[in-house]
Amino acid sequence: MIVLENITKEFISKSNTVKAVSNVSLHVRKGEIHGVIGYSGAGKSTLIRCVNLLEKPTKGKVYINGEEITPLPLPQLRKVRNKIGMIFQGFNLLKTATVYDNIAIPLKLLGYDKNEVKKRVEKYLEIVGLTDKHKSYPNQLSGGQKQRVAIARALSQEPEVLLSDEATSALDPETTDSILELLLKINKELGITILLITHEMNVIQKICDHVYVMENGEVVEENTAINLFTKP
Ligand code: ADP
Ligand code: ADP
Repeated sequence: MIVLENITKEFISKSNTVKAVSNVSLHVRKGEIHGVIGYSGAGKSTLIRCVNLLEKPTKGKVYINGEEITPLPLPQLRKVRNKIGMIFQGFNLLKTATVYDNIAIPLKLLGYDKNEVKKRVEKYLEIVGLTDKHKSYPNQLSGGQKQRVAIARALSQEPEVLLSDEATSALDPETTDSILELLLKINKELGITILLITHEMNVIQKICDHVYVMENGEVVEENTAINLFTKP
């Protein structure tokens, strides 16, 4: 489903070169949840942004469903990106739009007609449990509710893959658990493959099948979540 092959990403400026990601390979099979864990600055965010080519790798190849997407021109890349949803620590909602419109606007921009937009907004608001909040504005919602809106927005494009960039890092432990349960439900019931990055072991332990530990741009350990936690 997602294959990264020897991905290296360097940021080059006049004064220096930062190797944010160094020769990382990973393989997320369809229907699984994989997590990348590491301290701040380890290269996790750069790595996950390479999956949908928000960052262009300096070296290496990205495959989605067997298709190499690294060389694709932008119009084709946009089509592939529609199969890849993404959620963030900061939610990235439009402050001046209602919950309904936060989900509807991107769908309208993609060209879906009014009925399809309405159908999808209603469907995904129900899945994330926020049907009764459709008229609220983001500043009227809790952090967990905002992340649910962002998840509904990502799902409304009916992606095969969901990328999560520290989606629970701004949330308290209880809210974190409820969002992790939602991600697990999305994975099991909608069959969506998930790749997440986190600095919290708890997140890995609760929902991941497979774990990569990153340090200084490199994957220093890779294991099933069960083995990682039962190791002596
Ligand atoms: P993490 O997500 O694990 O905190 P990042 O991927 O954000 O790590 O950062 C990895 C390294 O790359 C850090 O040293 C960071 O300063 C550097 N870095 C990230 N983005 C850029 C950028 N746009 N320009 C220069 N350096 C960057
Ligand atoms: P537009 O012509 O501006 O795209 P719509 O007819 O799609 O408008 O919707 C008008 C407004 O009514 C939207 O901004 C949305 O907030 C609200 N709305 C429409 N349908 C629903 C619905 N099923 N549930 C909640 N709010 C809705």
